[in-house]
Amino acid sequence: MSAQTSLDRRSYLKAVGAAAATTAIAGCTGEDDNVINPGTASGFPPFEFTEDGELMGFDIDLAEAVIERAGYEVGEWTDTEFDSLIPSLTEGNIDMAAAAMTITDDRAETIAFSDPYYEADQAVLISDDADFEPESLEELADRIVGAQSGTTGLDELDALVEDGTVDEDDTRQYENYTLGVQDLENGNVDALILDIPVAENFADSRAVSVAFRVETGEEYGFGLRQDDDRLEDLNAALEEIQDDGTYDDLVAEWFE
Ligand code: GLN
Repeated sequence: MSAQTSLDRRSYLKAVGAAAATTAIAGCTGEDDNVINPGTASGFPPFEFTEDGELMGFDIDLAEAVIERAGYEVGEWTDTEFDSLIPSLTEGNIDMAAAAMTITDDRAETIAFSDPYYEADQAVLISDDADFEPESLEELADRIVGAQSGTTGLDELDALVEDGTVDEDDTRQYENYTLGVQDLENGNVDALILDIPVAENFADSRAVSVAFRVETGEEYGFGLRQDDDRLEDLNAALEEIQDDGTYDDLVAEWFE
C-alpha cells in the first residue's frame, strides 16, 4: 500500500499541488502552481458584488471553497468588467473566472470550463414606475432594450435585433448591469435582459420587477485556461462540496 492511500483526500491533493508547484519551478514557468488567482466582475448580485469596498457573493465563497478543497491557495482576486474576463484568463492575469459565466460552445473554443455549478434562465426586467408590462419577447417590439456587454443576455437581445423585433439603434449596452438598472429606474431604457437570479435580486432591492422568464437553460462554470491541468482537481473538489452540504449551505446563505 502506498503512502498516499493513507492520506485523506485533502492532504493528498495538497501533496499533489505541492509536487506540481515544484515541477513548475523546475520547469521555469515562473508561476506558482499552488496559487490560483481568481477573477470576477462585480455588480452581479448575489453572485458577486461589493459592499463597503469588499468583494462578496455566492461565486466568491464557492470559488474559494473549491480552490481550498482542491488543496490550492486562493491568491489575489481581480475585479474587472465581465467582457475582460476571458482575455484576462488567456493572458494569465487571472487563473480562474468565477463570474456566473454560462458555459457556451463559443467560449469553450477559447477557455476551459469546470463542471457546471448553477442553472439559470434569462429574464426581462422592467421599471416599477413605467407603464410597460410586457409578457413576451414579441412585446419588446419598438422598445429600448439593454444588456451587459459580452453576456448571454446580450445574445438574446441580438437575436431580437436579428428577427426585427428591436431596432439596432434602440439597443443599449452596459459595462455592468448595475448601470443598466439605474437607466431602467431613470426611464432611459424600457427593459433589460439578464440572468433571472440576478434580476430577482435587483427586484428585491430596487424599483424594478421581473416581467417574465426567457427559458435558455444555461449552466454556469468556472473558467480556466485550456492548458491548466489543475481543472481536474477543482472539479473533484466541486463535487465534494456539492456532496457534503457545503454547496447547499452557500445557496441558503446567498439565495434564501
Ligand atoms: N451568465 C451570463 C453570461 O455568462 C451573465 C454573466 C455575468 O454577467 N456575470 O453571459
